[in-house]
Amino acid sequence: MGRVALVTGGTRGIGRAICEALKDAGCEVGAVYHGNTEKANKFQEETGINVYRWDVGDFAECQAGVSKVTEELGPVEILINNAGITRDGTLQRMTFEQWDAVIQTNLTSCFNMSRCVIESMRERGFGRIINVGSVNGQAGQYGQANYAAAKSGIHGFTKALAQEGAGKGITVNAIAPGYVDTDMVRAVPENVLEKIIANIPVRRLGRAEDIARGVIFLAADEASFVTGSTLSINGGQHMY
Ligand code: NAP
Repeated sequence: MGRVALVTGGTRGIGRAICEALKDAGCEVGAVYHGNTEKANKFQEETGINVYRWDVGDFAECQAGVSKVTEELGPVEILINNAGITRDGTLQRMTFEQWDAVIQTNLTSCFNMSRCVIESMRERGFGRIINVGSVNGQAGQYGQANYAAAKSGIHGFTKALAQEGAGKGITVNAIAPGYVDTDMVRAVPENVLEKIIANIPVRRLGRAEDIARGVIFLAADEASFVTGSTLSINGGQHMY
């Protein structure tokens, strides 16, 4: 592809696989992380991909971070809004802090990051924005009113921005992963995970590479007719 790509939450899990796949496809890649510097440094050593530390939920930090990436790698042509967290709890127990952290990191981050790159994409007449949603944003999930709201919001954001970018060579799509074997899912108790897998028709968790494959499809120059869509990659767990 030979383009500059920036992946939020790029140093671990799904984001790491996305970074590696984009690099293999010929992109100059940057990976954003937040707190886990040890993992980020190891990732940089192993992959040779530049890492950048900032909070995607903070607009000023995104502005400063994107400026630095632009200086070092060039203008961002492919943006993958992948960073995400969970802070689960049923609503009667959920604190405002749990609600707010999840909305900021998963949803407001998509505004923050897209806002920081959209003008340059419009000027250059090319852009690919891929937002990572979730099956739980499509179907809802007990104990995840915050996460489901944020991920569901991502799908609406994607469709609106796709309409705005369509005349300027910018496509905006979402990927809705099912359960993928990463740190986030390893935090789920084993007995709950067994029940989840029993309800996945292909009878396994997804691999980070399964999601990266979808990103490569959507990020390609040749995918210019695909916009405003949500690609569900979930082993058949949720179909509609
Ligand atoms: P993960 O293994 O927990 O990794 C999360 C990544 O996001 C890390 O690189 C982390 O950085 C970064 N991050 C978190 N908060 C951030 C912030 N405020 N600013 C910048 N970076 C931040 O997650 P994952 O399982 O790969 O999930 C990736 C995405 O897929 C998320 O949006 C998640 O909601 C979505 N998803 C995951 C699954 C699944 O089953 N795993 C299913 C559906 C959707 P640090 O390392 O510094 O913490």
